[in-house]
Amino acid sequence: MYHQVEKETHENLTVSLKNLERQFEYLNKKKYNAKFFSQLNTLGKKSIILTFDDGYKNNFEYLPSLLEKYNLKATIFIPTRFIQEGYKNYEMMTFEDIRNLDKNYFEIALHSHEHHNFRNLSIDYIKHDLKNNMQILDGEKIEYSKVLAYPYGKYPKKYSEKKKFFQFLEI
Ligand SMILES: [Zn+2]
Repeated sequence: MYHQVEKETHENLTVSLKNLERQFEYLNKKKYNAKFFSQLNTLGKKSIILTFDDGYKNNFEYLPSLLEKYNLKATIFIPTRFIQEGYKNYEMMTFEDIRNLDKNYFEIALHSHEHHNFRNLSIDYIKHDLKNNMQILDGEKIEYSKVLAYPYGKYPKKYSEKKKFFQFLEI
């Protein structure tokens, strides 16, 4: 569960390039098999899924060569609003960058459109937001797996909304 990759970093949720390379090297040496969510039915003992949230440009800059070097794969969860409008002062990937990622090494998946915390939002809002997320990717001709990383890892807390939320995800 990674986010940004930078050469030098003191930020939370950012891994340094050196540290990430050490981790990838370890996974490769120990013969871990990186998989996509689309391959869930082929998981073995040494399967691992590497994920990167939010679509930062530094993923696009650093990951292709690293994944190839260590024979790994990664899933990137895209909140489409961050790609359209940006996020804070961070440089994000463009839709073209995402489209150009090599499918042998990258899988794209869902991370909502607005990237709001689902915890106290209505099921109608969430439905609309996830449809938006998918429609924008479809419109950009970006293939993705129907796998969702909840923004901030949060889903509706109230029992009734939570139940409706998981029922909605089934379809
Ligand atoms: Zn996120």
